[in-house]
Amino acid sequence: MRRMLDVLPESAEVRDGALAVGGLAANELADRFGTPLVVYCEQTLRSDARAYVDAAPADALVAYSVKAFPNVALIRLFAGLGLGADVSTLGELAYALRGGMTADRIVVHGNNKSDDELRAAAEADVGLLVIDAADDVPRAAAAGVRSVLVRVTPGIDVDTHPAIGTGYTGSKFGLPPDDAIEAIRRAREVGLEARGLHLHLGSQLLDAQAPRMGVDWLAGFAAECRAALEWTPAVVDVGGGLGIAHVDGERAPAIGDFVGALLARLQHAWRLHDLPPPRVLFEPGRSLVGRAAVTLYRVGVVKRASESTTYVAVDGGMSDNPRPQLYGVRHAAVVTSRVGAEADGQYTVCGKHCESGDVLIERIGLPAPRRGDLLAVPATGAYTLGMGSNYNGVPRPGVVLVSRGEARVIRRRETVDDLLALETNG
Ligand SMILES: *Cc1c(COP(=O)(O)O)cnc(C)c1O
Repeated sequence: MRRMLDVLPESAEVRDGALAVGGLAANELADRFGTPLVVYCEQTLRSDARAYVDAAPADALVAYSVKAFPNVALIRLFAGLGLGADVSTLGELAYALRGGMTADRIVVHGNNKSDDELRAAAEADVGLLVIDAADDVPRAAAAGVRSVLVRVTPGIDVDTHPAIGTGYTGSKFGLPPDDAIEAIRRAREVGLEARGLHLHLGSQLLDAQAPRMGVDWLAGFAAECRAALEWTPAVVDVGGGLGIAHVDGERAPAIGDFVGALLARLQHAWRLHDLPPPRVLFEPGRSLVGRAAVTLYRVGVVKRASESTTYVAVDGGMSDNPRPQLYGVRHAAVVTSRVGAEADGQYTVCGKHCESGDVLIERIGLPAPRRGDLLAVPATGAYTLGMGSNYNGVPRPGVVLVSRGEARVIRRRETVDDLLALETNG
């Protein structure tokens, strides 16, 4: 078989030199549903979800971080596999409920929750709400919320892009340790059930070192809480953060190894401090959906701009994938009709938007790309379309879920009429 990218979804295969996913040829999918098209592989989603569930203890909750890609069909699939949902806005809560998540498996976050959001969380009777600011405490109690976690900021810098680190001192998320202790005290005074602690260090972590440090720190903090409040956390939410590979050669830990390492460290640290074993929550986003999707683009203009730069322009760009611009993500790509063919040069893959920064891939070897080719960009399942926009009046792509030769639309392609429907004619 010809060499294929490792970063493609599990069901990816090469048939007569052309890429297929979920048993369907990429060019068939593009012809049938149009481009750009985001294609999620159900097999990959299921196996990554199972990897979490299998590695976690029976009483644990694995809550899908909905912001990675808010989608009702995906949430429904995860709900069916026993997962929960982590949401941080009214909109994400609505997705979770529409996706059939039972309220007891929903965790509500947000560094600036509105009264409407607090009331909606209380009305839905969600399992847990995460206190992220001192005044969340009285406001949550007034809204009728029952059970809470308190998010604490450990002051740990993780090895990731600064925009996606969250546990450092001075982060806008969570409370510094002393304030967190005060929030737990207040929560109990006002009649909230303070169930435990929450920690989320950052995203796209490529080893378990930072989370292990986080867990060690958290055990020390839990012991401090015991001393200060005669209270210990019954629940410990370790957040998300596990990264994925975007290009071949990049290494991310396997889900089972990552979860296993974290749990082992947690047990060890809790034992050292003689704390009662907590129920553990995980909140994976990227590692649950990121690997499962490829985006299919149609190649248009191929333009030699200088000695060193030839652009390959595709029919999407920063409106469906702002990640290269926001975080400097490096993507791979394959010309779907010539998988494994020798590259004839280095190309810059750009989008169709009116920004010079609208570059999806800075330099990549491709086999003589030309107008009409289909380009597949892997690892676009998380924080990609979910962060998209309508810049340049471009409707966002459709999304399909593929499995065993069948494709179903799980988000329809936007139309220009959808955009105009928001206008008022002044
Ligand atoms: C974004 C976020 C997650 C998910 O992070 P990933 O890196 O996608 O796994 C989990 N918990 C919280 C509180 C978050 O903000």
